Amino acid sequence: MAGRMMANLRRALESPRAIEVEDEVAFPHRSIYLNSRLIPCRDRRGRVMGVMGLSRDMTERRVMEMALRESEERFRSVFGEAPIALHVRDLSPVVAGIESLRLSGVMDLRAYFDAHPESVEALLGRSSIVEANRAALELFEAGSLAELTEGLPRVRGPQYMDTVRQTFMDIAEGRTRFEGETVIRTLKGRDRPAFLRAVAMAGHERTLDRVLISLVDLTDLRRAEQEAALSRLEALSATGRLAAGVAHEINNPLQGMKGQIRLLRDDLPLGTAGRRLDALNGEVDKVARIVKGLLDLHREGASEDGACDACEVVGGLVELVSSEMAKSSVRIETALPATPLRVRMGANQLTQTLLNLLLNAQDALPQGGVVRIVAEGRDGWARLSVSDDGVGIRPEDRARIFIPFFTTKGPRGTGLGLSVSESLVRAAGGRMDFTSEPGKGTTFQVELPVAGKVGIYREGTAVRAGVRDT
Ligand code: ADP
Ligand code: MG
Repeated sequence: MAGRMMANLRRALESPRAIEVEDEVAFPHRSIYLNSRLIPCRDRRGRVMGVMGLSRDMTERRVMEMALRESEERFRSVFGEAPIALHVRDLSPVVAGIESLRLSGVMDLRAYFDAHPESVEALLGRSSIVEANRAALELFEAGSLAELTEGLPRVRGPQYMDTVRQTFMDIAEGRTRFEGETVIRTLKGRDRPAFLRAVAMAGHERTLDRVLISLVDLTDLRRAEQEAALSRLEALSATGRLAAGVAHEINNPLQGMKGQIRLLRDDLPLGTAGRRLDALNGEVDKVARIVKGLLDLHREGASEDGACDACEVVGGLVELVSSEMAKSSVRIETALPATPLRVRMGANQLTQTLLNLLLNAQDALPQGGVVRIVAEGRDGWARLSVSDDGVGIRPEDRARIFIPFFTTKGPRGTGLGLSVSESLVRAAGGRMDFTSEPGKGTTFQVELPVAGKVGIYREGTAVRAGVRDT
């Protein structure tokens, strides 16, 4: 220490002007850090007479700086080595962009983003990735930060852009923390479900120029869920088969009972006993219809290019489910043509398709309500629709509802109803579409070629699916 101090003094003596030095001075029990200004003092002829020193005790500041550096290093190593994908984005250009949208008179940001989806892209394009850890590079299948920065804009998936849009709306409302599920697309074009959380880093809440984004890859979790859903489905179809088997067993004694009632009716005179017998007959008929519905539903081996009367199918289905649905205060209304509407689809498949739509409509009406089934034939096509005035489909789910296993119903849902229905309809050469408004309701449309005629789509209206060559 002393040697260092002497060296500094010598430097000051030889220097033409004042010098600044930092020194650690050791005392028996502690060290202090001094910041000193050493000023050489000269006589009139310029000879150095001595050195004047002004020292400040920097110990406290030095300790703080070291602590800061240490915590910075600790953060670096946590950030770098964390098994969770982390990256830091500078979102301040987004804050500025939203502000200028406001200034130029945009009141309803959601409506604006809806009308100009490219503006979300543009805003995101202005924000840069400041850094990314190893797990983030791996998640995005990027070799380096440069590759990630350069490549990401090329592979933005629609779901990710939905999340981005939502985040921008949150930013506009002054929020500094966002989270939700999304699907990211890697540089190699693979889609990965992920949980995203973005939090403004301490001290950057206002400017959002440092936002820490963590992503948890949900691929494995989703796969496990799909497997669980599949086994649930297997269990379901097993119970379905069981129900059909039981229905078959019940059907025979039922027919026997009807025969006995008929015989008794012939023996008994009119009067109280006769009327009771008629009532009994009516009830047995009802049981028989339900049993027949169950049998129809699970009858195997119907050919794909069968045909049926859609009105009859709708009628049978309504009969089958209406009392069950009435228990949850759901009423079914139908508007059917008076004459048969023959379509090119097997009765079982059409029943299955409409049943899936009906069950979804029921789920969309937790408080009960009305489901309307309308059928009509026109231009060689039969048009069937199932409408509810239930909860509706969120805009961000619209693109996903036909995807197998996509469900918003948690463990209660299988996410298979719509995908199965759609593939049945498509296999029959028809198509399926829907309109929905959150909070107002949903209408699913099924269009099927009328039996005996070859249906051709009108140009410009085909949204999903195509005619299968047969
Ligand atoms: P599940 O009914 O098992 O969830 P589906 O394939 O039948 O699977 O439906 C997928 C998703 O589509 C549902 O979870 C729901 O979010 C949405 N959906 C389908 N029909 C309706 C409807 N009528 N109203 C609101 N949402 C619906
Ligand atoms: Mg369903």
